Amino acid sequence: MLHFNEIKDCLKKNDISWKENESMVHHTTFRIGGPAAIFLEPWSEQQISEILRILDEKECAPVIIGRGSNLLVNDHGIDGAVLCLGEAFSEVSISEKYAQEGKVVVFAQSGASLTKLCRFCLEQELTGLEFAYGIPGTIGGAVAMNAGAYGGEMKDVVVGVEHLTMGGVKQELSAAQADFSYRHSYYSDHACCITGAYFALEKGDKQAIRRLMDDYMQRRQFKQPLEFPSAGSTFKRPEGNYASALIDQCGLKGRSVGGAQVSEKHAGFVINTGSATAKDVLDLVDVIKKTVKEKTGYALECEIKLI
Ligand SMILES: Cc1cc2nc3c(=O)[nH]c(=O)nc-3n(C[C@H](O)[C@H](O)[C@H](O)COP(=O)(O)OP(=O)(O)OC[C@H]3O[C@@H](n4cnc5c(N)ncnc54)[C@H](O)[C@@H]3O)c2cc1C
Repeated sequence: MLHFNEIKDCLKKNDISWKENESMVHHTTFRIGGPAAIFLEPWSEQQISEILRILDEKECAPVIIGRGSNLLVNDHGIDGAVLCLGEAFSEVSISEKYAQEGKVVVFAQSGASLTKLCRFCLEQELTGLEFAYGIPGTIGGAVAMNAGAYGGEMKDVVVGVEHLTMGGVKQELSAAQADFSYRHSYYSDHACCITGAYFALEKGDKQAIRRLMDDYMQRRQFKQPLEFPSAGSTFKRPEGNYASALIDQCGLKGRSVGGAQVSEKHAGFVINTGSATAKDVLDLVDVIKKTVKEKTGYALECEIKLI
């Protein structure tokens, strides 16, 4: 039983503002989801710590989100608290920590977008993060998911991660402790709020870095249905194959349930054609999984996180 009034009283006492019944449509790239009972957008680490402590005391585990670009929120919404780390918590700077021979270390707060981090690296003539340019998430979401593209992953460049425990205590993990693997990290199994990450990069040629970033961005624009709301690749890559190739092979391109559709442009994406509900997406996901299993033997696993 959640004690919303007690939570709100504590937040008020600590001068922390919140929104009530905030539609998650506005906080997910899928543009789907019912309302969150309490929606919090902290602007400092101290505030995050206070919020976590209050919620922990009231036994209300928050859903922590960045840009919501890997999320499918259910139609009934979230009967609890959502902690959203965004623009107000998005500093990026050169760091002296984790110094290594031949490397420059960059620190980014978890609400910073990957786009902002990549542009900062370009300005500093640092190479290593080009692969992440165009992934529409924040540092927190990218580290939690070990986001990757074009042969690169967060695990290749992250050397340290800072987080707050659910009790609001600050801790730090080395890259090894962060336990990265394909679309998985320590944070897949442990509830914590990532507050920032350190990236070790090399000095490079600015024109070459820019060319690579532009190339990856163009490939995304050419291949992905960026004109429709989605949460990116719906399924993880199965061992030895590609989800999009299997879905295409099964003739599922264009298949729809309600407002959810398998993209005609990229079969790996389920898109919201305008009025999709979470139920439409989940029903379509079931059709895809069943058909692919029957016709190819592959068991697809969702990459998007269901809330
Ligand atoms: C068009 C499109 C293209 C995409 N392309 C790619 C791609 O090429 N490669 C790829 O890997 N992904 C891709 N994605 C998916 C998504 O952008 C990434 O997974 C991204 O890293 C998620 O970041 P986010 O801030 O949106 O996280 P969210 O979607 O908000 O959250 C994702 C997960 O991270 C957790 N999380 C978020 N912030 C924190 C935090 N501060 N502390 C603890 N946990 C946190 C959430 O609880 C959730 O479990 C794509 C998505 C779209 C819409």
